[in-house]
Amino acid sequence: MTDSDSKTTQKPLLGIGSCLAGNPVRYNGETKKPNEFVRGISEHFDTRAFCPEMAIGLGVPRPPIRLVGDEDAVRIVDVKTQTHDYTDAIADYAQQVLQQAPSLCGYILVKGSPSCGYGRVKRYSQDGQHLASDQNGVFADALALADPLLPLEDDGRLNDPGLRESFVTRACAYHDWKLLMGEGLTAHRLIAFYTRYKYLVMAHHVPSYKSLGPLVANASQLSLQELATQFIHELMAALTHRATRRSHSNVLFHLAGYLKRTITTAQRQRLAALIEDYRTGQVPLVVPVTLLKHHFSDNPNAYIDGQVFLDPYPEELRVRNVV
Ligand code: SF4
Repeated sequence: MTDSDSKTTQKPLLGIGSCLAGNPVRYNGETKKPNEFVRGISEHFDTRAFCPEMAIGLGVPRPPIRLVGDEDAVRIVDVKTQTHDYTDAIADYAQQVLQQAPSLCGYILVKGSPSCGYGRVKRYSQDGQHLASDQNGVFADALALADPLLPLEDDGRLNDPGLRESFVTRACAYHDWKLLMGEGLTAHRLIAFYTRYKYLVMAHHVPSYKSLGPLVANASQLSLQELATQFIHELMAALTHRATRRSHSNVLFHLAGYLKRTITTAQRQRLAALIEDYRTGQVPLVVPVTLLKHHFSDNPNAYIDGQVFLDPYPEELRVRNVV
């Protein structure tokens, strides 16, 4: 099997809150109903379910727990007595998850959970007053601290098409990066990796597009490992920026430029009109991308054919089909 064969057959691995994966592990013995996107995710990604509260020995049913304390000193404790503090055990479990599943390239957390929520989790005072909804769950926070590159979202936020696209884009990129690390890092492979991501980065964050090129070009000033670390942090940070209709259109026009000598004037005009229709919200991104891919399949261009921008995640997820 060649490197490229293994890339196409090995699906990215996502962690997922066990209750979202259909297991009756919530404090009341119920599951949590996943949204349509989460329900369909296992067709395109491998998934592995984790429940931090069960893992640290809390059974089902169990007394509910919640976040209590000031913003900079939050603990996760039982609601009733506040004498059982699970903070350290749940945070430690995040480390165990990353050790058990080193190929994780993203994690679907659980909205609102004091363990697994991602942003906007409720925080209370010791006398039970709701202070704010401004926290990550303890497990989510510990995951982010242990692996700052790991894309995280909760099921609620994944209802947003822009966040959904950002999440799957980053998860697939991180998977791709871990495959590269598995093959063995060389300067040549790093440059080839960056080359494939150029237009995707441009779609998400032009300043990163401008800075990553010189970073890789001046590779000799850093050790290869230092360069790789800086590179992947900048790349993943770039992809956290939302791509917009404007930025996607900019990339589409750049790619269309590679066809100017190979397609007819009428085809060029049709392509430009479709990109403009996309930019103004008349058609989804998949429409101009499909036409571009069609033209590049008739007029192959090795540089463009390798661009991740054209296929950043499984097409069947249909995240580019939203107008
Ligand atoms: S939200 Fe997290 S801790 Fe709570 S039941 Fe689901 S997986 Fe377990």
